Amino acid sequence: MKNEKIIAIIGALHGDERVGVEVIKRLKKIIDGENIVGIVANEEGLKRGKRFISQDLNRSFPGNPKGNPEERIAYKLTKKIKKFDYVLDLHSFSCKSEPFAVLTKKTKSHLNLAESSGIRKIVLMLPKLASGKALIDYCPCGISIETGRHDLESTFKRAMFYTENILGTLGFLKKRKRKTGGIDYFKIIDVFFKEGDEEVVEGITNFKLIYKGETVASGRQRKVVAPYDFYPVLARERAYPNIVCLAAKRVKIEKR
Ligand SMILES: [Zn+2]
Repeated sequence: MKNEKIIAIIGALHGDERVGVEVIKRLKKIIDGENIVGIVANEEGLKRGKRFISQDLNRSFPGNPKGNPEERIAYKLTKKIKKFDYVLDLHSFSCKSEPFAVLTKKTKSHLNLAESSGIRKIVLMLPKLASGKALIDYCPCGISIETGRHDLESTFKRAMFYTENILGTLGFLKKRKRKTGGIDYFKIIDVFFKEGDEEVVEGITNFKLIYKGETVASGRQRKVVAPYDFYPVLARERAYPNIVCLAAKRVKIEKR
């Protein structure tokens, strides 16, 4: 069975997140450079172990050929990824959280791509609250997966599991991987920003429901109190020092 479709696996969009690079390395026997392509996005950031050189690459699309290092990479990548049927963009994080897929579009094919990974949590970050400047905003069907904590072997293994599931389910590999059971769908509805030194309080767990009136974070100046029931996402993430967390609600996705 020859697959006519092409997929790109993106690593190190953030230079300090090596998981995608590791996946590309481990899949080198099946990455043929034609149907399955591996792309290391921010080589310089990766070399220096830094998230970015001048600015967040995943907030730099569609880029600028005369801009700073990330804007120039984004410009080149925007042109390159347009031709891919699928783009899988692999990330990792510093906080404690279950892994999750991020979608900025809610089409059938986006959902399909995310669901075929076998991941249990899918988070919709639709344009109103997302930057609109992420890599996956600029390809026909792209998703990001936040695979786990930086640099853990368990994160690399999980990333391999998701990637091989996708490649198997979409017909890029002969063997079909097992899929897992239920998926929870979330939609980001708000971002809670810090105003000062607020820290997320103990007992707040990512993807665990916070009830209206509960204290989410507290600092010398103020407390952040939940204005409604929500699920926190990326609380205590060091890459986003200005936010307390993203707020999500659970949503139902109609089955096809
Ligand atoms: Zn990242």
